[in-house]
Amino acid sequence: MNKNKYPEFCPNCGSEMIEDAWDYIDFFPNGDMQIQIVDPAWVCRKFCGYYVKIKEDFYQS
Ligand SMILES: [Zn+2]
Repeated sequence: MNKNKYPEFCPNCGSEMIEDAWDYIDFFPNGDMQIQIVDPAWVCRKFCGYYVKIKEDFYQS
């Protein structure tokens, strides 16, 4: 495992880091919308803005 390359605490504000899914919503001109789940990310619990994108190999043993 290479989990250690992700910091346990935010280097910005010192808060705990948590795993979160990164998603956003696309709005189309005709009124439709589509929710897209993008890459999971390793984010600051206080959402100060610091995050690390988690690569898929993070989950591989
Ligand atoms: Zn932070």
